[in-house]
Order: sequence, then structure tokens, then C-alpha cells
Amino acid sequence: MVFGVAGVPTHYKGKLSGLFPWLEGMGLNGLEIQCTYGFKMSEENKKIYKEKSSDGFFLSMHAPYYINLGSLNNQVVQRSKSNMKEGIELAKSIGATRIIFHPGGGHENTENGRKIAINQLIDAVNEFTSEIDMGNVRLYPEIGGKTASLGSLDEIIEICKKCKYCYPCIDIAHLHAREIGSITSKEILKSKLNKIKDAIPDKFEQIHFHAYTINYGDKGEIKHLYFGDSMPDGKEGMPNLIDFIDVLKDMKINPWVISEALDSQELSAKFMHDLYVK
Ligand SMILES: [Zn+2]
Repeated sequence: MVFGVAGVPTHYKGKLSGLFPWLEGMGLNGLEIQCTYGFKMSEENKKIYKEKSSDGFFLSMHAPYYINLGSLNNQVVQRSKSNMKEGIELAKSIGATRIIFHPGGGHENTENGRKIAINQLIDAVNEFTSEIDMGNVRLYPEIGGKTASLGSLDEIIEICKKCKYCYPCIDIAHLHAREIGSITSKEILKSKLNKIKDAIPDKFEQIHFHAYTINYGDKGEIKHLYFGDSMPDGKEGMPNLIDFIDVLKDMKINPWVISEALDSQELSAKFMHDLYVK
């Protein structure tokens, strides 16, 4: 069981080394390191992460947003491949076991255009993963938040089916947003998770979640919400996190859940953790 935060929460004001006891004090045991501007970090931070992962703290890494393995521009794809290899080496060196990445965009947003982009991504991933020792590191393509971005539920399943080292990152807020408010009940969420379970049963056990509430419009994601905030129109923030935790329990999923709630990751992660262990 892992409950953790995406990046260093804004409520935490201290050194990196003090972040871990702060999180552990809330029952949290996971950190998704945000490599937003590249897979790099200081030697000092590497040492801290390595020590914590050896101690049993769970580390994942979020790949930079400029990585785009589904791009129509071959140069971008080639650069993304070598960036991902750097990320895998960095992950191995600090004991992070999961790298989350966005499948990308820039494709023609038609059924055929999307298919071409996804197939290209699959080939690219299979190429660079065969050229490198993956160690314990696994790759997690993430559900995209906008209707036009790559990474629908079906596309994520397809990638995981065809790439040995890929496992699903189900961002339930992105899924809700890209499907214009689809996750309105426990049953609907369960049916979506069962779809993954049926399609890739061997990988389902290692599923990764991003969970928080989100504001969305007719093109999908607009903005992550602060923990507990309502939508701008006053409606309850969705997807419902209590339902989400119920579903994890009902389906006996051993969860790895990262909160990306706006400026309140630790509050939302603690809330979900406490519900889960109750
Ligand atoms: Zn992401």
C-alpha cells in the first residue's frame, strides 16, 4: 500500500531531507518526484532519495512534459527516447521503480491519426527498452486529461498490452475530465477498472493511480482542484475520493495512489490513506 504526493507540497517549507518524516507523520509513504524540467537532480538530493528508498519509502518519477513519444516530428521522438533512457538510469540510481509519462500530443486527432501515433509510441518504447537494462524500473503511460491528448483508457490498455515494460497509470481525474464527467458512481469506476483487469490481468496488480478532483470543460481538463474545493459552479468536486477508496477496497486492490490536488496534495493523500486503513 502506497499513499503519497506529487512533488514537494507547497505547505512544506524545509529541506528535502525533512520532507520524509513530515510525510510519514501523516501516514504517507510515497513521493512522485516531478522531473518537470528534465531528468536531473543534484548529487546531494540523489543521495537523500537513495537512502529513503532503501529504507522502504516508495519513489516514483514523473517524466518531463516535453517528452512526446507519439509526436509526428521524428526529432522529438528520438530526443524523447534518449531522455527516457536517462530517466531510467536516474530511477535505478535512486531506487525509484516507476516512471510516469504522458503519451503526448501533436497527432492528427482522428481515429486513424491517433492510431498512427499510438503505434509509433509503442515501437519507440519497445526500441529503447530493448537497448537498456531496465532493472526494477517500469514505465507508466498516463491517462491524458484533454479530449485531444493521447492516452484514452483504451489507448493506455493498448500500450500496456504491447509493451513489456509498460503498466497503466490511471489518473482518475484525467479520465473523468477527458470523458466530460464520466465517473459519477462507484459502479462506473469499477467497470472501468475491470476493463483494465480483463485486458491486462498480469499488469493490473501493479496499477498506479493519480487521484484528486478536477475542473473540466468540453475539451476536458481545465485545472486541478484544491482538496475539498467545489467546482466553480458550486457543484461537488469529482471524482468522489470516498467512492474511489471504497472501490479499491471492494476490488481488493493493493494501491499505489499519488495525490495531485492543487497545493494540497498531502491533505488529500492523508484523507485517502486514512479512509483506506479505517
Ligand atoms: Zn501526469
